Amino acid sequence: MEKKVVKEIKKPKKTKRDLSTVTGMRDILPQDQKYWERVREVAKQISKDYDYERIDTPILEYSELFVRGVGSQTDIVEKEMFSFVDQGGDSLVLRPEGTASVVRAYIQHGLLNHTQPVKFFYEGPLFRHEKPQSGRYRQFFQFGFEAIGEDNPALDAQLILMGWNSLNDLGIESVIQVNSIGCKECREEYKKALVKYYKTKSKLLCENCKNKMGRNPLRLLDCKEEGCRSLREDSPQILDYLDDACKNHFMKVIGYLDELDLPYVLNPYIVRGLDYYTRTIFEYWAIDDVEGKNALGGGGRYDGLIKILGGREETPACGLAMGMDRIVAKMREKNIEVPEERIDVFVAQLGDAAKKKAMVMYENLRKNGSFTVSQAFHKDSLKKQLEIANKMRVKFTLIIGQKEVGDGTIMLRDMQGGVQEVIDFNKIERELKKRLEKYNEGAVIDLTQNEESENKIEMSGNISSEIESLEDQKEDIEEIEKLDLEK
Ligand SMILES: [Zn+2]
Ligand SMILES: [Zn+2]
Repeated sequence: MEKKVVKEIKKPKKTKRDLSTVTGMRDILPQDQKYWERVREVAKQISKDYDYERIDTPILEYSELFVRGVGSQTDIVEKEMFSFVDQGGDSLVLRPEGTASVVRAYIQHGLLNHTQPVKFFYEGPLFRHEKPQSGRYRQFFQFGFEAIGEDNPALDAQLILMGWNSLNDLGIESVIQVNSIGCKECREEYKKALVKYYKTKSKLLCENCKNKMGRNPLRLLDCKEEGCRSLREDSPQILDYLDDACKNHFMKVIGYLDELDLPYVLNPYIVRGLDYYTRTIFEYWAIDDVEGKNALGGGGRYDGLIKILGGREETPACGLAMGMDRIVAKMREKNIEVPEERIDVFVAQLGDAAKKKAMVMYENLRKNGSFTVSQAFHKDSLKKQLEIANKMRVKFTLIIGQKEVGDGTIMLRDMQGGVQEVIDFNKIERELKKRLEKYNEGAVIDLTQNEESENKIEMSGNISSEIESLEDQKEDIEEIEKLDLEK
């Protein structure tokens, strides 16, 4: 009987039919897109500024790529991969991170033969089956940069700079945490020293750290548990274990960061969780996130990865990835304003003949390319159209009514100042261009100063009070006639 009850409780979970997002995943609604758009814009600009070229890799990859690349002993591979066997029997995963895929592409397409380093920029969704908690999503987004085929420390410093610049350009203050975990050789020595140290204290470690000690002792250093944190104060320091080559490389990176006057701290406790890192590693912490609970991004050198994934020869590389979800959350938390792009021209119409003419005119304006345009041809009411235009905060509205169709004129309304004028239908594009130029210069548009213009001018009141006064379709017609300067 008991068994049966359990079964009945469990069953609905497996055949979950309520049509909402999958646990840990979310929709990004239109009203939130401006933040994402801004982040993508900045990322793209940085990629151009430092010559990183866009690459898109598939969301699905063979599991083997991450087992070998990220490491079978890491959290990602042990428990966080969305993996499944497809109809053909292949073991696939939704990519949990970006670097391994980019390296696979580098090897697969023989980019070793191109001028080195080959510099990539990517942006897109990644998937990890993490414990759901606030601010963490199972589908999350990153943009990243990877430079493959070069070991010069200037490259490390420049990548560190690029990540910092992207945050700074978005208005987020951050501090760079930087460390070196050495090459494979010096790190082995260090791991031994760490295990030796922690073995004597193992009773004081959290369960997680006890488990990790034998397999991935570096992870003990970035455990967030209070007990483990206090233990690390006396732990051996990686910098004392670096061989000369690794130490020199790191000192050069630090030297460039000093020269660039970047806000960084040497943090011997950041280790990044993935097996492929070597030498320089770094993270970006928001200035008010002193414990680094929500790093906004990070990266490092991964000189061994290309060989691990089947590259022909040792190929040094370095990269970084930025967490877009956390960046957007930080922008909102800090009330960072995202400049909204305002539409230049809204095309409004009244009456059947006018609507036809307006639709054709709209296509011409759109193709002109000098303006951003909008419309609401699905509305017949002028009042409703003007409300929409007002809500969009468009710069100018063109209004065409029956009378205008007959006259071959159109009404141009400056939505800010409320100034209206009638212009020749055939001169719309020229007139608009002229006014937008002035608008963009920030000049107060005073059409009364325009001597060439024979246009009639009317100053009218606040648009919203005007719209309020427009109550129905009939009044629309009266209104457009009123707007039309009692011609
Ligand atoms: Zn070394
Ligand atoms: Zn711990």
